[in-house]
Amino acid sequence: MTILNCSATKCIYNENELCSKGDIEITGDNAHRADETNCGSFRDRTTAGMMNSEAQHCGCEKINIDCKAQECTYNDHCNCTASAINVSGCSTDGCNETKCSTFACKC
Ligand code: SF4
Repeated sequence: MTILNCSATKCIYNENELCSKGDIEITGDNAHRADETNCGSFRDRTTAGMMNSEAQHCGCEKINIDCKAQECTYNDHCNCTASAINVSGCSTDGCNETKCSTFACKC
């Protein structure tokens, strides 16, 4: 599994910049830049109150990643093979933009 560090502290699953969700999806089917990827599992903690019970609150360092950014050099059939990645974005109110900062294009 991949070590995930996440700066999207507005996300309901974020626990001290670790993810408590257990598994996440990274989107960006046609991404050629990190900015074109997104964490599909991001949920704004101010609008996702009903989902509090879904968070596992483990703050796990390692996580399963289903990644749709197939142009990334670390992507092997939608599995991330990087030993560690950084997801960034969304530490401020009103933000819904996240990205995988570790994305590296095969192109
Ligand atoms: S490093 Fe590449 S394969 Fe891994 S999650 Fe990020 S975009 Fe997907």
